[in-house]
Formats: sequence, structure tokens, C-alpha cells
Amino acid sequence: MNVLGRRIASLIAAQGPLSIAQFMAIALHDPQRGYYATREAIGADFITAPEVSQMFGELVGLWLVQVWQDQGGPSPARLVELGPGRGTLLADALRAARMKPEFLAAVEVVLVESSPVMRRLQAEKLAQGGMKISFAAQFGQGLTDRPLFLVANEFFDALPIRQYVRTERGWCERMIVARDEDLAFALSPVPTAISIPAARGQPEIGAVYEVSPAAGALAEEIAHTIAQQGGAALILDYGYAEAGFGETLQAVGRHRFAGLLESPGEADLSAHVNFAELAKAAQDAGAAIYGPVDQGGFLERLGIRERAERLKRANRTMTATIDAALHRLTDPQAMGRLFKALAIAPHGAPVPPGF
Ligand code: SAH
Repeated sequence: MNVLGRRIASLIAAQGPLSIAQFMAIALHDPQRGYYATREAIGADFITAPEVSQMFGELVGLWLVQVWQDQGGPSPARLVELGPGRGTLLADALRAARMKPEFLAAVEVVLVESSPVMRRLQAEKLAQGGMKISFAAQFGQGLTDRPLFLVANEFFDALPIRQYVRTERGWCERMIVARDEDLAFALSPVPTAISIPAARGQPEIGAVYEVSPAAGALAEEIAHTIAQQGGAALILDYGYAEAGFGETLQAVGRHRFAGLLESPGEADLSAHVNFAELAKAAQDAGAAIYGPVDQGGFLERLGIRERAERLKRANRTMTATIDAALHRLTDPQAMGRLFKALAIAPHGAPVPPGF
């Protein structure tokens, strides 16, 4: 076991089993050894839509300009990206948004990023564009007092989840224990009283209920801000629209699936995003929701094919690369169907483009 694994094992010895959410928070964010805290994950271990093609960020930029205009072009407003990775999406979005200088003049740009390594990359990337940017470690205070235009791509999947397993005794939380120098899963002996959304159907013994209290709380806070101040949010991620039972937590390192508990901090941990849960949280907070829709259809309605044609005319030698990127982003067998888009807007605002 690695250094972080041993540290987690002694924490468990001292204070008892950890929930999966606690384990994820340490494995991803430990300041010395956490996955996001220490490495430039994206590209080395997995690749995200904005890294596939500039078209993705550009279309998101035009989406943001459009929803801002549809709400009367509020100024001052705030443009927030959650978990900007290498900063590619935002760089492409801000470049595309130059067609509307009033938008760029109206928004304060804030990057919500927990990792110092990632912040450095983002600052470098965005320095080229000349926009003033600032950072926040999390969404919250300081970001809720203005119209909010927010984008989050592959961010919610990294938020900690909890898992409960249906047993004869009731729902027992899946915990992490330390056994002979190894970390292992074990069910909490005492069942937890949890209420399961009826839409999930009847659980059989052994069914797994996965929930991300952090994701729900965050969606609620964003939606509350949008309902009160105006603005819109675009959440893109892989996940499911209607949740059943089942577990989706996975570890990925070096483009391959890895063991969940083997080498904490060395692999990315993520779970499929439960869009039904996000949508409900947003509606409960008083906002309107659109989608979730498949990413492929969303990008096509925003005009990704026309954008690809234009790029190809301008860069004849890049035809095959652009076609491959278009396919990867939109094809149902690639990222087109598993990835979804969900928008949050105030009630009464025009339907956001793409939905
Ligand atoms: N949106 C980017 C990166 C996705 S990876 C892209 O599409 O390429 C997830 C990003 O979120 C990383 O930058 C990671 O450091 C950041 N992150 C993960 N959990 C976070 C949290 N709880 N708070 C703030 N940032 C977080």
C-alpha cells in the first residue's frame, strides 16, 4: 500500500471505518498526496471534451453569451467555471465570446478550483487571453450576489458519493475498513434510515443505492442563486437521467480502470452523475431546469456540424482530425449519449439554446 493508503489505514484504526465519501475526499484532495492536489490529471489519465476539440469550449462560450443576452445582458454579472482542469474550455469560450465585447465587459470571471497544481495551469492558459480572472476554492459565499453564468464540465462526477446496500436488516452503508495492512469494503452493521426516491423502483437484496449529498447541495446553492439573481448554469457530465439501483464508482489511472482502494491518490475516482437528483435539487431551490439531454444532440443543436465545416475550410490539412473530434463528441457510441447536458435558469427566462 502507498503512503496515503497507510495514512488512511491509521486514521481508520484511530477513529473507525470511513464512508466512501470521506475516503474519496482524502484520496482526491489530500494536500500532500491527493489525486487532484498533486498532478496534472487531465490528458495523462483521461481526456475530457474540451481537450478533444476547441469546438466544445467555443460552443459553450456562445451558449453563455446567448443566455446572458436573453436575460437582458445584466451588468455586472459573474462567469464561473467549476473545476476548470487545464483551463481549455474557458480559454476557448472566452475567445468565442469576443464577438460580444459587452458580455466580456460585464462579467467577472471566477474559477472554482481546489487544486493548486490545476490553478497554476489555468492561470497560465488564461493569461494568453488577457481576461482578468480570480480563483475560489469552492462555490459559495462571494459568488451568490450577482447574476450567475456558470459552466461545469466533468466536475460533478468528482464529488464524493455514499453507497448503501439493501440487506435483510435494511439499508447498510458501505464503509471502508483496514484489514491486515489493506483497505477493504465492509457493510456497516447497523442499518441507516434513508429515504429512497420512489422513482428508483423496488430494491432487491444486494441492490446498491448511490447518492451524492455534496452534488445535491451544490446544485441547490447554484439554482438558488440563479433563481434570486438571474443567470444560468450548464452542467455537462457523464451520468444517467433516471436513476435505478447500481454502483458506478470507478477508479481510472493512466487511461485504464484501476482498483478502487489499491493506491489512493494515484487514480481518479468518479461516479456517474445522477441528473435526476441534480434536477430535483435545482427545482426545489426555485429554478427552472432544461434537460438532461444527450450531449451529442445538444452540440448538434448548437451548430457543431457547421462549426466543424468552417474549421475544415480554414484548415484543409486538419480535415481528418476535425471529423474525428466531431465524431468523438457527438456519436452515441462515443461521448454523445453517455454524456448529458442539464441547464438551470430562472422561471420565465427564455429556453436556453440546445434544449
Ligand atoms: N472541466 C475540466 C476538468 C475536469 S477534472 C475539463 O473538462 O477538462 C475535475 C476538475 O475539478 C479538476 O480541475 C479538479 O482539480 C477540480 N475539482 C475536483 N473536485 C473539486 C472540488 N471539490 N472543488 C473544487 N475543484 C475540484
